[in-house]
Amino acid sequence: MKALVKPCAFGRHRVLEPAGALPQCAWKLDATPVAHENEILCDVEALNIDSASFRQIAEANGGDPERVAAHVLALVVERGKHHNPVTGSGGMFVGRVRAIGETLAPHAGLSAGDRIASLVSLTLTPLCIEAIERIDMATGRIWLRGTAILFATGLYAKLPDDLPDDVALAVLDVAGAPAQVARLVQPGETVAVLGADGKSGVLACVAARARAGAAGRVVGIAPDPTSPGARFLIEHGYVDAFVAADACDVTGLLAAIPDALPLLADVTINCVNVAGTELSSILLTKDRGTVYFFSMNTSFTAAALGAEGVGKDVTMIVGNGYAKDHAAIALQTLRDHPALRAYFVDRYGPKPSAVASAF
Ligand code: NAP
Repeated sequence: MKALVKPCAFGRHRVLEPAGALPQCAWKLDATPVAHENEILCDVEALNIDSASFRQIAEANGGDPERVAAHVLALVVERGKHHNPVTGSGGMFVGRVRAIGETLAPHAGLSAGDRIASLVSLTLTPLCIEAIERIDMATGRIWLRGTAILFATGLYAKLPDDLPDDVALAVLDVAGAPAQVARLVQPGETVAVLGADGKSGVLACVAARARAGAAGRVVGIAPDPTSPGARFLIEHGYVDAFVAADACDVTGLLAAIPDALPLLADVTINCVNVAGTELSSILLTKDRGTVYFFSMNTSFTAAALGAEGVGKDVTMIVGNGYAKDHAAIALQTLRDHPALRAYFVDRYGPKPSAVASAF
């Protein structure tokens, strides 16, 4: 590693290029697996690749796990982090603490050997991969041998004892969604959730149902009303209606919603993992309503100019992945809703090894 000035709490000392950038904006990081005085070095066990990023990488490699593995390895070698240049997104890791720098150790609340999940994006996390061992193409989970660094400001959560790791990882990846929904939705309001049957979408619907209450209305929207997520939401009453529609097709979507959303939504939550859904989200929402763009495929330009172009006075919120206590809130949501927990265990829990591809 290069000789350094005093290590920066935000990790600036790990930036190789461009000079002066912070790690998230940087092109390349130094991922040398040695903990500076204010860093945590972890042995990585698995990555949970962000859904937008994994979908893009899988499509670019024809859905072939071996090519996906080679792609991820090359990307991490090139950048020193998993930062997909196409989607701009990353994911998170789960691993075991190997070493804690001496100035951080008294404050970290951690010991070597603790198992943690990172709550900051892989787009700013120095990452070294020794070998990729398995990939689950259905969930975007990658098991590997490697190391990662957390900076002094990096967030993490100790893995809970009462949930399988794979489930905790799936929930923590999208932990910002239920916490933000609980803040944005008021009792009695109408909530539309785009991409409702995915990880964040299901959690958003459950949080919206709890917050809007019996007088409120929750409408899920996704292309397939027979998907496991859609069936779960409908069967357990977490949505009042489920609309089968493609959020990229504004005309088709508007034609499909009048029965489900006659007065439009007070709050729209966008949880899709594809591009081109900004205008659908805006047009589903009442004037002076709120659109929360959790999706990483959101374009600021498309949202801002789209809303202006159709004369919609809506408040649009960028989906900050962090909200105070978001990890605890998201995990508690599973504990408070046994059916949701069972659904997540079934969908994202440990699978027979035949499901994943080993190398
Ligand atoms: P996920 O589990 O893969 O779910 C994505 C959902 O989008 C699925 O229900 C999918 O339906 C639906 N969808 C895809 N194309 C659609 C379309 N044209 N119209 C309507 N729905 C469509 O993804 P996730 O993990 O919940 O993540 C969702 C988004 O949040 C991604 O963009 C991800 O990058 C982002 N994210 C943001 C943060 C943050 O901090 N803001 C953190 C993590 C993830 P099908 O299954 O039928 O395709």
